[in-house]
Amino acid sequence: MSEPIQKQPRFCPIPPPHIRALRLANGRYRINECGDLEKPCGACHEWWPADTEFYFGERNAPDGLSSACRACYLLRRYPERFPEVMGVAA
Ligand SMILES: [Zn+2]
Repeated sequence: MSEPIQKQPRFCPIPPPHIRALRLANGRYRINECGDLEKPCGACHEWWPADTEFYFGERNAPDGLSSACRACYLLRRYPERFPEVMGVAA
């Protein structure tokens, strides 16, 4: 009996209450219509849910998530993997 290979589950790091309050106050976080925390990507400035489905977990970040979303991070880190996107952007 073998278990199917599971994707790493998504997780939502819980920012310290003072960080959460500060960022909600200064517009760096918002609560969407479902009551979930969202944060803007530092690169594309789109709002994405503040969890590891959209951001990379980053141990040293104040809120535990990377500042750029996964797509932007991968584009920046490995531009050669996305010639069609980079060709349009250039
Ligand atoms: Zn982005």
